[in-house]
Amino acid sequence: MKYYYLLSLLFCLELVSAQEISDTTFVNSKDYVSDLVFDMKYATTDNFLKTKVYECDECFLRLKTVKALADASKCFKRKGYRIKIFDCYRPLDVQKKMWSIVSDPDYVANPARGSIHNRGGAIDITLVDENGNELDMGAGFDHFGPESAHSYDQFEKVILKNRKLLKRIMLRNGFEALNSEWWHYNLKGSKKDKVSNFTWNCP
Ligand SMILES: [Zn+2]
Repeated sequence: MKYYYLLSLLFCLELVSAQEISDTTFVNSKDYVSDLVFDMKYATTDNFLKTKVYECDECFLRLKTVKALADASKCFKRKGYRIKIFDCYRPLDVQKKMWSIVSDPDYVANPARGSIHNRGGAIDITLVDENGNELDMGAGFDHFGPESAHSYDQFEKVILKNRKLLKRIMLRNGFEALNSEWWHYNLKGSKKDKVSNFTWNCP
């Protein structure tokens, strides 16, 4: 009995702390969602820029985005999958840095307008199975070509099924897809949030 009381107390404390801050506050996703797998590509040179643009690999998002991500994660977990994250909130200064490396609006959002990543409402993700292996999505993260579009249908059935599964669960949990990038999801309504240059501390 004591055990359950302690558990519920812990659970309630967690809920209270989540309610105390506003939905638009930036939070570290790993403090709120368990079972996420992180592979923050822009904190490495393994990205299309071939440059490390983040000092360290933290995944910050607005609290409302994290809450929706937690719901989606629960749905995927029930099916035996986990969400693997490639990119989250991106400070405006990082967007400017990316733009200075590749000044092409087909590849990088112009920092003059900012992207949903700069607003804390976008995530770049895929799915991994129980062994941590990525599901085959047909084209890699940040592959810029027609094969990355949701509307591209020249793949074998299993790939189309994997993409559909990712999209279906994300849309059911408050996100919207971007047709040209199978990995990118925006929390609905995030366009209204302000572009931010908040930067997290690195160890
Ligand atoms: Zn993205």
